[in-house]
Amino acid sequence: MVDIKSFNLTELEDYVAGLSEQKYRARQLYEWLHAKCETDAEQMSNLPKSFREKLSRNAEIVCARPVEIQTSKTDGTKKYLFEFSDGECVESVFMRYKHGNSVCISSQAGCRMGCKFCASTLDGLKRNLTPSELLEQIYAIKRDVGERISNIVVMGTGEPLDNFDTLIKFIELISDKNGLNISQRNITVSTCGIAPNILRLSEYDFQITLALSLHAVTDEKRREIMPVALSYSIDELMDACKKYFKRTGRRISFEYSLIAGKNDSDEDAEGLIRLSKRVSAHVNLIPVNPIKERDYRRTGEKRVRAFKEKLESGGVNATIRRELGTDIDGACGQLRHRRNAEFPKQLTVPRK
Ligand code: SAH
Repeated sequence: MVDIKSFNLTELEDYVAGLSEQKYRARQLYEWLHAKCETDAEQMSNLPKSFREKLSRNAEIVCARPVEIQTSKTDGTKKYLFEFSDGECVESVFMRYKHGNSVCISSQAGCRMGCKFCASTLDGLKRNLTPSELLEQIYAIKRDVGERISNIVVMGTGEPLDNFDTLIKFIELISDKNGLNISQRNITVSTCGIAPNILRLSEYDFQITLALSLHAVTDEKRREIMPVALSYSIDELMDACKKYFKRTGRRISFEYSLIAGKNDSDEDAEGLIRLSKRVSAHVNLIPVNPIKERDYRRTGEKRVRAFKEKLESGGVNATIRRELGTDIDGACGQLRHRRNAEFPKQLTVPRK
């Protein structure tokens, strides 16, 4: 079966030609798949029946099946557990902000980066996702909520730069004017810092925002909490960020999760000011979200504010991430690839 939802229009035209159908049919099919987010070939009413039958025999229209949906009581954030055809699951989160609706998607089932404070990596990497599986997390949420989605963050489970070709294809398809047409400026990709792939990404000249999960300002400290730091030093990362900014004109942002007594001292803030200035980065502060397998505690509110003020008085632009969905384990670092043991066994959405 051919994964036709991972094709761009040119590839779909080739595929359609291979089925001895006319070229313009590819455009119609593309619109069904990517603008109308249809998953059932039978519903594609302007395609001839014979073509629809060929599709059911030849093509798989990848679908993210919601097996669990949890809605936050405090802010209406929705967390979805999606299942793909091989039974592998990922989580995605829908958030409403003043500036529009945002979806956070996973780039891999599981993760092999091993960051100590993150729940997504506890069971290692299960498998990479395909471009269609990245898209489907957004399309399935759009089908469920029936609202326009204007912002995408690739900040769920997985390391997007460890699934590089999929990420590139995904960005092309989600921002394509014949599909959902989401502006690249409204797409953020977060990486734990695979330096050579930051450079590779810069060559595509995308207008996306790249966020670097920094979390520590010395190599020694960073290696303690992020094993990826054993492979790439902060110097190498800063060089890559500098080149990225120069090439794309897009300012990098640093993600910095504040862990009590670990990375939240004045000295840490000073180090962060130096690094931010080196690459003209903006800083996003996230008080660390506790996960039950580790004993990291979040920095207190007062200290978070003082840390932010210290950055600002050093001339660095800093924001504190507004937290949504904490009560449903939908916040940063809390996503997993399977059901939590404590979750009710009963499904909130009936299986087809
Ligand atoms: N692999 C990518 C994207 C996934 S993590 C990356 O590392 O950037 C998305 C963001 O959540 C990252 O900045 C990550 O460091 C942060 N994060 C992970 N666990 C967290 C936790 N427990 N509390 C707060 N932020 C966390």
